[in-house]
Amino acid sequence: MRSDDAGGGADSRKRAEKKFLPPADRAGMGLVKKKICLLGAFAVGKTSLTERFVYGRFEEKYLTTVGVKISQKMVPPVQAPGGGRTVQHAFLIWDLAGLEKFDHVADNYFRGAAGALAVADLTRPETIEELKRFGTRFRSVNPEAKLVLIGNKLDLFDADRGTLARLERLAREHATGFILTSAKSGARVEEAFLELSRKIEGFP
Ligand code: GDP
Ligand code: MG
Repeated sequence: MRSDDAGGGADSRKRAEKKFLPPADRAGMGLVKKKICLLGAFAVGKTSLTERFVYGRFEEKYLTTVGVKISQKMVPPVQAPGGGRTVQHAFLIWDLAGLEKFDHVADNYFRGAAGALAVADLTRPETIEELKRFGTRFRSVNPEAKLVLIGNKLDLFDADRGTLARLERLAREHATGFILTSAKSGARVEEAFLELSRKIEGFP
């Protein structure tokens, strides 16, 4: 029996991670697998954004995420400016839950990610501040990874300048942009994943 046939706990997590780590760049074929993570506080909409993007559906009820759920989805191709090279990513989307108190566990989940959507809830501005810790932690594991900031629940948001200013400030601190989405209506959800795809390739 090979040692990685052992079941359970940390071993199976390691095995899952190995299986899902992005393979070496298959440049030339134009299709590249990338691991990405969803970061953010409890109930900001991480699972809802993933479900919307991957399956085109939305549930009002809270979808409890236990540990990690991994979904795969092809992102529409992105192209370098001026008709340059085209790349298409297959995203392996790691939707993490309940990791707030287990920083060292989160580190293992973050490892090997090319980027992350860092999600705040526009109706709870404090979730923007909470993102700082996630973003910093994620970057410490993956210094080259790209982040896109998301203000979710746009359908419930009455354009509060203060909240937008906080998002802007955090985006600037992480040298990135931010996108306002609604997992409920679907508004700008695909755009958010596309933006991350572009960032990972270094396309503007
Ligand atoms: P997670 O803990 O970050 O994975 O959050 P969930 O995706 O489970 O969402 C938490 C709750 O917010 C659920 O009841 C969702 O239905 C709701 N929700 C998520 N995104 C949106 C959104 O864009 N608009 C509205 N109105 N509700 C949302
Ligand atoms: Mg969830």
